[in-house]
Amino acid sequence: MTKWIDHTYDVVVVGAGGSGLRATLGAAQAGLKTACVSKVFPTRSHTVAAQGGIAASLGNMGPDDWRWHMYDTVKGSDWLGDQDSIEYLCREAPKAVYELEHWGMPFSRNEDGKIYQRPFGGHTTEFGEGPPVQRTCAAADRTGHAMLHTLYGQSLRNEAEFFIEYFALDLIMEDGVCRGITAWKLDDGTLHRFRAQKVILATGGYGRVFFSATSAHTCTGDGNAMVLRAGLPLQDMEFIQFHPTGIYGAGCLITEGARGEGGYLTNSEGERFMERYAPSVKDLAPRDMVSRAMVMEIREGRGVGKDKDHIFLHLDHLDPKVLAARLPGISETAKIFSGVDVTREPIPVLPTCHYNMGGIQTNYHGEVLTKKGKDPDAIVPGLMAVGEAACVSVHGANRLGSNSLIDLVVFGRAAGMRCGETIKANAEQKPLSKDAGQSSLDRLEKFKAASGSKKTSEIRLSLQKAMQEHCAVFRTEESMEEGVDKVTAIAESIKDVVVYDKTMVWNTDLMEALELDNLICQAMVTMASANNRKESRGAHAHEDYVDRDDKKWMKHTLAWYDADKNKVKINYRPVHQHTMTDGIDYIKPKKRVY
Ligand SMILES: Cc1cc2nc3c(=O)[nH]c(=O)nc-3n(C[C@H](O)[C@H](O)[C@H](O)COP(=O)(O)OP(=O)(O)OC[C@H]3O[C@@H](n4cnc5c(N)ncnc54)[C@H](O)[C@@H]3O)c2cc1C
Repeated sequence: MTKWIDHTYDVVVVGAGGSGLRATLGAAQAGLKTACVSKVFPTRSHTVAAQGGIAASLGNMGPDDWRWHMYDTVKGSDWLGDQDSIEYLCREAPKAVYELEHWGMPFSRNEDGKIYQRPFGGHTTEFGEGPPVQRTCAAADRTGHAMLHTLYGQSLRNEAEFFIEYFALDLIMEDGVCRGITAWKLDDGTLHRFRAQKVILATGGYGRVFFSATSAHTCTGDGNAMVLRAGLPLQDMEFIQFHPTGIYGAGCLITEGARGEGGYLTNSEGERFMERYAPSVKDLAPRDMVSRAMVMEIREGRGVGKDKDHIFLHLDHLDPKVLAARLPGISETAKIFSGVDVTREPIPVLPTCHYNMGGIQTNYHGEVLTKKGKDPDAIVPGLMAVGEAACVSVHGANRLGSNSLIDLVVFGRAAGMRCGETIKANAEQKPLSKDAGQSSLDRLEKFKAASGSKKTSEIRLSLQKAMQEHCAVFRTEESMEEGVDKVTAIAESIKDVVVYDKTMVWNTDLMEALELDNLICQAMVTMASANNRKESRGAHAHEDYVDRDDKKWMKHTLAWYDADKNKVKINYRPVHQHTMTDGIDYIKPKKRVY
């Protein structure tokens, strides 16, 4: 009999990135006994790598209005975002940023001493009619780093408890209610059950399902996979953002802030080709458009380099003083990963997987939803989700740059407040059922005993290559059909995996196998959701159906995965065509041009 070490909290947050820390802090401030469980040290979460900044209509550099931010976000989402949630995001954004400022986040400053803001793609004025706006608040090009350190410090100050280097395995579900989670403590191999009134998943994205990604190796979407294993759906998984400027070969990110500060892209003819694709905003068009334009240029033979397979990003015309003050981190990254001195030469770049718009379906309080009978938005008691793991949905089919960091703090804050409203501190919790956590043990034992013929790394590489080939910037019917078959076969092949190390102490081999298993079920639902959507919208560019089709497809995809049968089930739910507050009009669909 495995001995569990049991813990009881009011709230357990899984994940210590920006969203997890903000939710932890909020729950702790509401007087709830709060635990935060993380597989890496909090300040090593992927949020630490965020460079460019955080969007909020502070108006420090010129006129701005949260309604303009809302319009831009709806348009950026290609009308797939839920407008009640988008209203909440943009309305609450300034408050969430001022909170960070008051907690000591070291923002860059403008000449008046106010928070410095830079332009970012798709952010405009006057409901898309006016010039670009400077809305993205920044701490040089290390905004995520500054944010994580600020939030971690504040969480400790409010007596949140941290369980660091604990690997969460699964949700404990009883009769459709989430009662807690199971976790494996990596440094001593012990197994833990956390019982809680609310579990908040803040486990981030699953960028590592692609071969070339800007995200950390830890971004394997473990929370998403836990939700699928609990028999709940994931939403809009076909929408994956490719960032235009990953460093060619290495995948590391060069922030969009580089173009915000005046950088531009050129092809082999030295042409600033974005002028042709987005005449008004040019290099600051939204990411899906810039990525597609780059791939078109390369396809038409105007790529740069020996193999004509990438594009140049120029910063060499900018004042070296501006580069040193505003973009010091990326100057260093360009030097290390492509050997380029940005003051003299262009950086070789290529669209790279960057962000998952899809994830766990929630409302704007962070409560997890699922389709139950006729109700598309039934609450799953006890379970919440925030950050990149969640799909609120504010980013719809395409996220605007700097709208993720604000999503983390606005909805992390909302989730903390919701916990304060809906549960009582130290309320009695009934005992967990006797077999709580048994499925986690079975899964662990299965992988510990795995003695097949394929290494985890081999299967992972074939998965990443298949996703890169069949589910990237442009998609066709034929290629996606093939992708579905390939990924299904790879999902079968995990039965033949080998795990060498049988111990539980620092067994990275076992942990990577569990993470791969998590990636696989997300690849299955992503491929199937993409293959099923016969239109082009935002980041889903379908070459056989090139137009957006609001009549048939203005709806969210919901996808369930049955691991035993290795099958995906798909259903849809309507996009919320209402706002949150009376008097704020629904923004009607238009053609998305810039
Ligand atoms: C290089 C880069 C630059 C970016 N720049 C910007 C930017 O400038 N502006 C912007 O708005 N957005 C940016 N983004 C996007 C944004 O940073 C991310 O979407 C966001 O940081 C995700 O935060 P999160 O809180 O959801 O998760 P993360 O920060 O990814 O954290 C996930 C947490 O979950 C924990 N976890 C995961 N699985 C488990 C498990 N099984 N058990 C226990 N713990 C687990 C991890 O330990 C970690 O603490 C950038 C992204 C990248 C990759």
